Amino acid sequence: MSRPQVLENVVCPFCGCLCDDIRLTIEDGKIVGNERGCALSKAKFLQATTDRMMSPAILQGSEFVEVSLDEAVDRAARILAEAHRPLIYGLSSTENDAHREVYRLAEYLGGVVDNTSSVCHGPSIIGTQESGEPVAALAEVRNRADLVIYWGANPLYAHPRHVSRFVRAPGVFIKDPKSERQMWVIDVRETVTSRVADRAIIIRPGTDLEVIEALRALVRGHTIDVSSVGGVSLDTLREIADAMKSAKYGVLFYGLGLTQSRGRHSNVDAAIRLVQDLNNYTKWSMMPMRGHYNVAGANKTSTWTTGYPYAVDYSRGYPRYQPGEYTAVDLLRRREVDALLNVAADPIAHFPRAAIQGLKSIPIINLDPKRNLTSLIATVNIPTAIAGIECDGAVARMDGLPLYVKKIVDPPESVLPDREVLRMIFDRVQEVSRQ
Ligand code: SF4
Repeated sequence: MSRPQVLENVVCPFCGCLCDDIRLTIEDGKIVGNERGCALSKAKFLQATTDRMMSPAILQGSEFVEVSLDEAVDRAARILAEAHRPLIYGLSSTENDAHREVYRLAEYLGGVVDNTSSVCHGPSIIGTQESGEPVAALAEVRNRADLVIYWGANPLYAHPRHVSRFVRAPGVFIKDPKSERQMWVIDVRETVTSRVADRAIIIRPGTDLEVIEALRALVRGHTIDVSSVGGVSLDTLREIADAMKSAKYGVLFYGLGLTQSRGRHSNVDAAIRLVQDLNNYTKWSMMPMRGHYNVAGANKTSTWTTGYPYAVDYSRGYPRYQPGEYTAVDLLRRREVDALLNVAADPIAHFPRAAIQGLKSIPIINLDPKRNLTSLIATVNIPTAIAGIECDGAVARMDGLPLYVKKIVDPPESVLPDREVLRMIFDRVQEVSRQ
């Protein structure tokens, strides 16, 4: 038995916080301890070996048959090469070098490449394309912000250390975050986060846009001829607008409660304009609460490579961008794709029923470390190494900060990183296409 080894400052590859202060204990090639990580982080590191797909497998009839990696790659390549309009989807739970291989493959195949932001913060991206992006670094929030508002986000549930690391932690100019920084929550219901907030404002579901526009009017000094908006009294709205204007530095974190409720990208567009209005009086920033740990990276690599953040179609040989047209859910719902290469995502677990029906009608090649709902119906399953645990790579935090995730332990025997499997598929697709 080897002596336990302690690794400091490990980056947690689970949510968009990418906490980079995790201390792991390794014993006999296994992770046996996780200090500082939240419950989600502990589960990710300590249960890395549970529910693993251990061998490539191909669906034959109703049975999965284990095959060699070469056989699985060959079958995957043939499916992709024969498809008229293949879709490559996922990317938010793997590292940037895997993304590079995906874009190369999508371009070669003349397919569509989309990432999971199309079902989460896609509207945020469209909003920022309309109105700009008043972003900040998370360190800046901790050091300077005296008013933090979470809108339609529940970080204690989805990003468990966001509050403790960036809002309730002291910073350079905020020595006592309890008394010097206010944390407010605006949401349609009480949440675990709203219960610990300094103030919780509950609005009627589907009225985010009206409430934001009312706040914009009040911030600009207009009068509103109604007694309440979205279930919030005019007096309360005036109070919120005044508090926003008198903050020294305010930050608005927003979640899917804003981006996926009625109004979608219009909500984000209005929120950006509210923040822009507030910057006429004081300093404000805003930031989406990105869920998967490298969904921000997927948007960046897609933009570097194709010019567009998601929903990119290569069918004409050059990239075209059209959310609603080339987004995975819409393509599947309309049955416009005839094969799926799924990389580090679980669309069966997250897509609406009409898109799942589309998925069930086409061959699926599934690259993932673990068994999931998509692996149950995939034609080809290829297990891959867990980025940030079994292979290294570059990723981007929710504020855009690039971080390097480490290889901590070896993957199971013969299991390779996504990037290597994707390279093998690309090479084989080229060979098959020449035959
Ligand atoms: S908050 Fe997110 S990144 Fe940080 S330890 Fe928890 S799961 Fe990991």
